[in-house]
Amino acid sequence: MSIFSIFRPDRIPSLSRLPKELGREERPCERCVRRTEHILYRVPKKVVLLYVKEHPESLHATCIVCARSTVLTGEERERVLASLRDP
Ligand SMILES: [Zn+2]
Repeated sequence: MSIFSIFRPDRIPSLSRLPKELGREERPCERCVRRTEHILYRVPKKVVLLYVKEHPESLHATCIVCARSTVLTGEERERVLASLRDP
């Protein structure tokens, strides 16, 4: 028995848990009260021991002016994902 067997794979930091930038889009920012550039990114969520990319709150948009972040849901989420799939 090696002492290393006590380390479990899920304790090792994985790149899969990091948000991934998907693109940028100009959209209205509630805090800036005007249209600003937002970074669109996908936030993985840990489910049991896995990080899943597809879940209802996976898509975030962050204003590059004030750093306000919003979760895109419903039709808006579908629209952004569709536009990212078909540039
Ligand atoms: Zn803003």
